[in-house]
Amino acid sequence: MEAPAVRFLRQVVQQAVERQASDLHLEPLADGYRVRCRIDGVLHPLPAPAASLAVGVITRVKVLAGLDIAERRIPQDGRMRLSRGDGQVLDVRVSTLPTLYGESVALRLQGTSSEMLDVSRLGLEPAQRDTLLAAIRRRSGLVLVTGPTGSGKTVTLYSLLQVLNAPERKIATVEDPVEIPLPGVAQVAVNDKAGLSFAVALRAFLRQDPDVMMVGEIRDLETADIAIKAAHTGHLVLATLHTRDAPGSLARLLDMGVAPFSLVGTLSLVVAQRLLRRLCPHCRRREMPPSGVGGGTFIAVGCSLCHGTGYCGRVGVFELMPMSWNLGRLVMSGSAVDELAAQARREGMLDLADAAREKVRQGVTSQAEAMAAL
Ligand SMILES: [Zn+2]
Repeated sequence: MEAPAVRFLRQVVQQAVERQASDLHLEPLADGYRVRCRIDGVLHPLPAPAASLAVGVITRVKVLAGLDIAERRIPQDGRMRLSRGDGQVLDVRVSTLPTLYGESVALRLQGTSSEMLDVSRLGLEPAQRDTLLAAIRRRSGLVLVTGPTGSGKTVTLYSLLQVLNAPERKIATVEDPVEIPLPGVAQVAVNDKAGLSFAVALRAFLRQDPDVMMVGEIRDLETADIAIKAAHTGHLVLATLHTRDAPGSLARLLDMGVAPFSLVGTLSLVVAQRLLRRLCPHCRRREMPPSGVGGGTFIAVGCSLCHGTGYCGRVGVFELMPMSWNLGRLVMSGSAVDELAAQARREGMLDLADAAREKVRQGVTSQAEAMAAL
């Protein structure tokens, strides 16, 4: 006989997986427990366990994740493997947090596998895809992918690595943590306690004769400088940066202290991105504009297939800024961000708002979703 706590955990994970949730949260409140799952970036409630069961559920998670069940006062991290219910096994990252009313547990249900990575499915417009593929086919240079947390940067980078992942190229990555295992790629996880930082790993890569390096995130000048040096000495370097848009990335690196001439000499492309929820194709409805002129746009409705949300999955919108002679000149002369942005648009850059409008026009997403995301 399965214990009630074990059964509850199995059922709630199964529900979250069926709804393609990325995360599952078990949160203690003053008067009970709350269970929520994140689907396409938005939290949705799930049935909560009875108060008498909750501690048993948390303990069960901690046992499976190899955590110390007696320790409830400090945060802990671990991993566990769970059955999805359809024969597949799920690799789940677990973290606990001591809160006022008890331990809060977050489960990252790793949804992405290397087979799902595909540059043609990211949401790039055809011309953007060509620009991006051309940039990563060069043997050297720096390609930056930027955006806030949860904007899909990681999946974009991994999809690019999949394109590059071939026997004739050696690829090394440093990440915090390693998110998706890629066969044939040397992936290193940052370990601050052991002194393995992004910068330390990158410096070690330079002695490992790689063709391609990926830096999970450029956070400081030291990492930026080594990444630029590597990109300048015959390596293709892919990296992410935490900025809102493509022109802002240049300003960010200069603010960190990167020398303008090094940046101009090595940067080949900046990609900024956001994720928008895709309208459910089964229930989206076309709404005509009040004027009656034009084709109108689609709005979210909600049906049983999308669990009433009106949305199903997400798609990226992108802004690509290739480094040009004129942009380089502006960077060297210390121009402001809006001057860089204006020059990039003159050179044909589709900005994030343009890209989102295009997705609304295509009926892929709604006006409301585009407005909320940008
Ligand atoms: Zn639907």
